[in-house]
Amino acid sequence: MNTLFIISAPSGAGKTSLLKALLEEETHLQASISYTTRPKRVDEKKDVHYHFVSDSAFKDMIQKQDFLEYARVFEHYYGTSKQQVEDILKQGKDVILEIDWQGARQVRALFKETVGIFIVPPSLASLQERLEGRGQDKPATIQRRLSEAKQELSHYKEYDYLVVNDHFDSALKSLRSIIEASSLSMAVQKVRQGSLLRHLGLV
Ligand code: 5GP
Repeated sequence: MNTLFIISAPSGAGKTSLLKALLEEETHLQASISYTTRPKRVDEKKDVHYHFVSDSAFKDMIQKQDFLEYARVFEHYYGTSKQQVEDILKQGKDVILEIDWQGARQVRALFKETVGIFIVPPSLASLQERLEGRGQDKPATIQRRLSEAKQELSHYKEYDYLVVNDHFDSALKSLRSIIEASSLSMAVQKVRQGSLLRHLGLV
């Protein structure tokens, strides 16, 4: 049985770097690469960070029902491809979706066995610092993102786990622990340990 992890955080909470480190260690985990109409940032790679597409290409995908979920976040569209998630699951891997609260709601409505993780920054000041530190967005954009970050934060209760990104290493350790605990849950173990449970005469 494969697990679908959903990770959400306000922009600037440090989610991307944490996930990068997590995925380098946990080879049974794979992130789905989202489609977006947002322009590429200079440090981003096409088809690595996102599949960057035009508005009309995105709307075409909506029409064709290619998305597992999609949402308008800030002024752009973001969506998860159904096909990509299916391909990862077919390889026997667990999937990580790095999506916002609107997408998380849609995915939870489709699959009840998701594991939702919400990452928060240790303070609003650090959130602002990280948004400014990126140095790629205009001040007005940063201000708007800060107020939208507060909106994203207000949805923290809809998730199963809360991780505070105060220190990179401890936040990473927390993420690892969540992944490990989830792999030992009864729902997952009943499937993974099926032959042992049969051998023990339990099923
Ligand atoms: P950014 O533009 O900073 O990369 O991402 C902005 C927001 O869009 C983040 O909250 C991120 O989690 C969210 N996001 C990225 N990909 C997806 C997606 O496929 N679906 C949804 N619903 N949100 C996404």
